[in-house]
Order: sequence, then C-alpha cells, then structure tokens
Amino acid sequence: MVKCPYCGYEAKVENFRLIKPPWKFRFYEVKSLECPRCNGIFNYYSGISPKGRKVEFTIRMKPRATSGVKYGEDKKN
Ligand SMILES: [Zn+2]
Repeated sequence: MVKCPYCGYEAKVENFRLIKPPWKFRFYEVKSLECPRCNGIFNYYSGISPKGRKVEFTIRMKPRATSGVKYGEDKKN
C-alpha cells in the first residue's frame, strides 16, 4: 500500500498514476507517482535494504505546477 503524503489517500501502487518510468536508486526502486485524489506528485521508494529488511517511504515533490512562472503575476514593468 502506498499513502499519499499530501492528502493521506491510501491505495495500491497501481491506483496511482506513474508519471515516468521507474528508476533505481541504490537498492531502491523509485516511482514518481501522482495521487488520483489531490494530484500531488511524490516519489515512492521501495526496496530491500542490505540487512534484508523491506523499506518503503515517500518523498514529497512539488505539487503539480502549471508552468513555473505565471505571466502577469510578476512585477509590472
Ligand atoms: Zn493525495
């Protein structure tokens, strides 16, 4: 089960949208996921530690931003 770090939505990893192909980080497999409920984006790490323990955790990424700078909201020049 994966829990969204933003809204607490909990579901199987398949229920989240994979926004890019998974990659490896040390002994983890990392999946960049989008929450179907709040559209927050986070990285889900899962793997087996060198001690043989299953480890999984999430790291918040920036919530979906439209496109960086919003035009018109900057200083008027
Ligand atoms: Zn969420």
